[in-house]
Amino acid sequence: MSLPFNIAIDGHSSCGKSTIAKSIASKYGMRYIDTGAMYRAITLYCMRQGIIKNKVVDLQKLIISLDDIKINFNFNLSTNQSETCLNRENVEQLIRGFEVSDNVSIVAQIQIVREKLIILQQEIGKQGNVVMDGRDIGSKVFPDAKLKFFVTAKAKVRAKRRYDEMITNGEDVTLEEVLTNLNKRDEQDTNRKHNPLIKSEGAIVLDNSELSLSQQNQFINQIIKTKLSE
Ligand code: C5P
Repeated sequence: MSLPFNIAIDGHSSCGKSTIAKSIASKYGMRYIDTGAMYRAITLYCMRQGIIKNKVVDLQKLIISLDDIKINFNFNLSTNQSETCLNRENVEQLIRGFEVSDNVSIVAQIQIVREKLIILQQEIGKQGNVVMDGRDIGSKVFPDAKLKFFVTAKAKVRAKRRYDEMITNGEDVTLEEVLTNLNKRDEQDTNRKHNPLIKSEGAIVLDNSELSLSQQNQFINQIIKTKLSE
């Protein structure tokens, strides 16, 4: 079964947007697009090329390089996971590291970066049957999406979930550092000039601080069912 509409999922950092999106994608046979991974991949490129140093972006260098940055997703059949590729290199693990997380919201503020990625995201969306998560999907990428979610949770709950994930992946990080990074990213993403994180019109708010995964899935599936019957 596929759905006759795209789904937009926005929300705060590490609130489980990708878990929700993956679960919807697998239940309804939809394509999942993680737009945060796209911003992370551009950030990794900038770090490698010295375009961002000490949190300062060399805009001229970025403008010259932007056309050389190619991002796509490969579906790995053996792991059943989508992998983010930067100029054909699988960077899925590298973009999840703390240093990328620490720089991504600075790169994501830049208008030409956003314009490039929004065009790419809208092209993918035209194919339909897409569930996409990010910060501006309901407000800018698919403003007409029939179903939009705005996901959030208490910062401490989000930080603990993210910290556990990073420790499992072998990252050397403290809970305090993760919490500081989340709060900083939320602040930057919410207050930036171009396409800030907002609850877009018509978005359904989901605070999952106190919800189990199965309660969350129940909530979402009920809403999808209702939407389908409208
Ligand atoms: O979703 P994730 O936490 O991986 O996103 C990383 C960062 O990318 C966010 O903190 C935000 O700065 C940026 N982002 C964005 N717009 C999106 C998706 C992500 O600005 N649509």
